[in-house]
Amino acid sequence: MSPPPIRLFNTMSMQKELLETLVPGKVGIYVCGPTVYSYVHIGNARTFTSFDVVVRYLRYRGYEVTYVRNYTDVDDKIIKAAHETGEAPVALAARFVEAFREDAQALHLLEPDVSPRVSQTIPEIVAIIQKLVDKGYAYESQGDVYFSVSRDADYAKLSKRNLEELCVGERVQPGDQKREPLDFALWKAAKPGEPSWDSPWGKGRPGWHIECSAMSEKYLGASFDIHGGGLDLIFPHHENEIAQSESATDQRMAKYWMHCGFLDLEGAKMSKSLGNVVRLRDALTRVDPEALRFFFLSTHYRHPLNFADKALADAEARLEYFYETLRKVDERVAGKDFAAGPLHGEPGRFRAEFETAMDDDFNSAGALAALSGLFALMNELTDKPPVKDKAMVGRTLQALREEVRRVSSVLGLFEDSPAEWLLRRRDRAVRERGIDVAQVERLLGERAAARAAKNFAESDRVRGLLKEQGVEIMDTPGGTVWKVAPAST
Ligand code: AMP
Ligand code: ZN
Repeated sequence: MSPPPIRLFNTMSMQKELLETLVPGKVGIYVCGPTVYSYVHIGNARTFTSFDVVVRYLRYRGYEVTYVRNYTDVDDKIIKAAHETGEAPVALAARFVEAFREDAQALHLLEPDVSPRVSQTIPEIVAIIQKLVDKGYAYESQGDVYFSVSRDADYAKLSKRNLEELCVGERVQPGDQKREPLDFALWKAAKPGEPSWDSPWGKGRPGWHIECSAMSEKYLGASFDIHGGGLDLIFPHHENEIAQSESATDQRMAKYWMHCGFLDLEGAKMSKSLGNVVRLRDALTRVDPEALRFFFLSTHYRHPLNFADKALADAEARLEYFYETLRKVDERVAGKDFAAGPLHGEPGRFRAEFETAMDDDFNSAGALAALSGLFALMNELTDKPPVKDKAMVGRTLQALREEVRRVSSVLGLFEDSPAEWLLRRRDRAVRERGIDVAQVERLLGERAAARAAKNFAESDRVRGLLKEQGVEIMDTPGGTVWKVAPAST
């Protein structure tokens, strides 16, 4: 079997390249994970969802994927947060690892194959620093160890920054331990009250960048296929990872570098330091997790994405349309046998469109457009079938429903039963609008009685009463169902 023709944008070459993995049929992917000093925000969640879909799609395409995403559980921000709460830094980090796992599960993010933590990788980190010192790429200075950027001939090849420009205005300050302004810490000597570990340079802790060099090599080898993260990590974090790993191993660290664009709020990158953050767990009390995924995936991962409550409400409304379609289709064809025969409207073309979009640098927006076409055809076939042959309509609907099942695991969408998803959405809308469900059910009973008595004026009046409260009713083959318009509309 020839390898699937996936193309992906490589930040290193600034071009789309054909995915040709180091070992045919296998992919090793490393994604820089969260710094666990607080709850993640939906900007972080966008990046993690993008790579979640990359991994899912590679598996869908038949690759055996090893997915590594780390936890930065030793870091200045963690130490600072722990001083504020009075906890031990390691305990605070462990608490936020658990919080992250809950959030990730709620967003239907796949659990990576390996989720290493800095605090559990110290021997490997010390070993790689030692190697860099031995090879002359790093130097010790009063218990700290620094990477000597001027020793690395191709430093900044990923970000394409100009070293002279980077140095402008930078100088080594009195009291600094480093020799040159661009040098960065691999190891920091212990300060009182900070977590520390033994090392050949005395007690201390790792600098930020070295952990990813140590962890990726430990779990994926010195050279692996894909390295990912958000755009803000290109410089200095990924640049420094490359400098460390490639100087230590004399091998190319990652073949492809993928970066996810920012989630912005009112024109600025969502970030804790700006204070413009929406926590993932808060967002998930207001919006369905699949709707949040849908919102992320409706824009290509490399493009900026602007967050707004309205955009989330629109995503959820769109998902409701999809789930209502699925409910209708299931009512019509689930478990039924239709005589074998031809299908209407080439249902297989949607899979081809979906795969073409995803093969083109994981273009999830194009993939969703293909799905829109598929759902439009399902609606047409259930509401006003363009063909008379009922068996052909049934067969085609079953084939289309099967296509939805196939792709839902790639996107992490439509994984619920339609009835359950729609009920959950309705429950949330009921709470938001303060609707009295017992009263709605009483009115529905009155309407059913009026209809049975053929008193259509009365049944219309009751429908109107419900509508005033935001309750919409639909008579389906399976009985009367009702839904609630969200509070904002
Ligand atoms: P951090 O915990 O800050 O290291 O971030 C975890 C991941 O989220 C990294 O890959 C960041 O690049 C990414 N990230 C942070 N802010 C945003 C944002 N506003 N939009 C998209 N990705 C982000
Ligand atoms: Zn990293």
